[in-house]
Amino acid sequence: MNASTPTVTPVVPPSAAARAGSPPTGARVRPSRPGRPQGQWAVDGREPLNANEAVKAADNGLNVRERIETIYAREGFDSIPTDDLHGRFRWWGLYTQRRPGIDGGRTAQLEPHELEDRYFMLRVRIDGGALTTAQLRVVGELSTELARDTADITDRQNIQLHWVRVEDVPQIWARLEAVGLSTTEACGDTPRVVLGSPVAGVAADEIIDPTPVIEEIVTRFVGDPELANLPRKFKSAVTGHPSLDVVHEINDISLVGVVHPELGPGYDLWVGGALSTAPRLAERLGAFVPADQAADVWHGVVRIFRDHGYRRLRTKARLKFLLAEWGPEKFRQVLETDYLGHPLPDGPAPAAPSGPGDHVGVHRQKDGLRYVGLAPTVGRLPGSALQRLADLVEAVGSGRVRLTPHQKLIVLDVPPDRVDELLEGAAGLGLTATPSVFRRSTIACTGIEFCKLAIVETKATAATAVAELERRLADVEPLLDSPISLHVNGCPNSCARIQTADIGLKGQIITTGDGVQAPGFQVHLGGGLASVGLEEPGLGRTVRGLKVSAEELPDYVERVVRRYAATRTAGE
Ligand code: SF4
Repeated sequence: MNASTPTVTPVVPPSAAARAGSPPTGARVRPSRPGRPQGQWAVDGREPLNANEAVKAADNGLNVRERIETIYAREGFDSIPTDDLHGRFRWWGLYTQRRPGIDGGRTAQLEPHELEDRYFMLRVRIDGGALTTAQLRVVGELSTELARDTADITDRQNIQLHWVRVEDVPQIWARLEAVGLSTTEACGDTPRVVLGSPVAGVAADEIIDPTPVIEEIVTRFVGDPELANLPRKFKSAVTGHPSLDVVHEINDISLVGVVHPELGPGYDLWVGGALSTAPRLAERLGAFVPADQAADVWHGVVRIFRDHGYRRLRTKARLKFLLAEWGPEKFRQVLETDYLGHPLPDGPAPAAPSGPGDHVGVHRQKDGLRYVGLAPTVGRLPGSALQRLADLVEAVGSGRVRLTPHQKLIVLDVPPDRVDELLEGAAGLGLTATPSVFRRSTIACTGIEFCKLAIVETKATAATAVAELERRLADVEPLLDSPISLHVNGCPNSCARIQTADIGLKGQIITTGDGVQAPGFQVHLGGGLASVGLEEPGLGRTVRGLKVSAEELPDYVERVVRRYAATRTAGE
């Protein structure tokens, strides 16, 4: 722990604290209609109210692993029944990927089985984004040998492989688990990967090291059958860094490092954030969570979600909808009374972010070594590059790498006199610690290349836009003193957090000025979170009728950036 640097914010009572320090929460989440069963286990009982709930009730998703190992991997893709293939496989990080050659205009017209390929995306959960070089090397080897050299660093600190055959899944699990990695509950209606500060335990200005909390949550609760049937996914984030580097406003639960004036360093509790088609930023409960109680508080919140979350409609099942009905005061009271059995002290809100939380660049660690934040383009780094990166990191005397929620990676523990050697080697892998403002803040979801829900292509479109903007806007870039975030989504979901970007792009088929149907984007403008250094986070807004074709995207962004650079006011 390091309590020497942060600003201490006064403790305020819970009702006021629930809002002070909380950003505007979004307006589209509404409480459900009273009087109608919502499928809340604690209120309505456990009778399934939709097909997904029926599948989960019939057999715990975790149980599919044994069938994969003993039946499906031996007998092949055609032996997998639908409920496992489209349901329970997710509990182990497996989705079928999109069949190549189906254009986005047909996505909504086809059934899932018509869209899917006989290959899988496999998501490796990397809690806290923390990897040893041995782990990185194994993921890279699996990518090269069994996933056609694909690997995407996601904005949830996971790595996703593609082109995986069910026949190879047991071997992949064995090799991952031999180095302490897993795909357990990487997808599904479960507690997903726990986001963690990528500089946990090393940053000189850290408030509190969240590593023990993340490890305790993962060790005690990931894979717990009692928590493996939630109403929907449950996203967690824990940070103790003053840059607020885990996008805490858009997780179901976030624990954010603060210093209590009497109790010392601990966590401020936030709940109910999520994006997708009804975005809502999380709210503070005004409660201070001592570090040694953090895992129990996490357990209380996830059980509230399990017991009281809505299960009638999947589109209304995330925790944000329960929070919209209860409000933060009732949520805290239920947590303390029914789940913890004791009150939590009131606590302070986090101070304004200390700076951008992407950690790109070279930074001094508290032990005098350096951590080096590197930017790949839109998170893509093939397995062969991951292996070479592991070699490089070891060659400069380190053994640790972290992934970030911004599709970046950080090499820890670099001796100061080896930094240049690392940077030179990283450049050979397409990684830089001094990216342009465009490369630094552009992220893209999986898109039509692999995702069955996608309407448009994303990764290549975003990479092309970055290259074009770097070329065209070299004259403007020196005038921009902060990154301009460009988030590219392949459909109306928000895997790339479009509502939180300066320029957010939602994939859809548009009609161009020539009357032609073409891949394009609905534009959202003006969003941003504390973790990019904003003191007043908020959700971006759609601009009525503003759509841009994928082809015209660089032209559009160039116009926006030039206009912004020319007209912005001081400090904007
Ligand atoms: Fe797929 Fe849509 Fe998510 Fe992109 S935003 S990964 S297209 S579901």
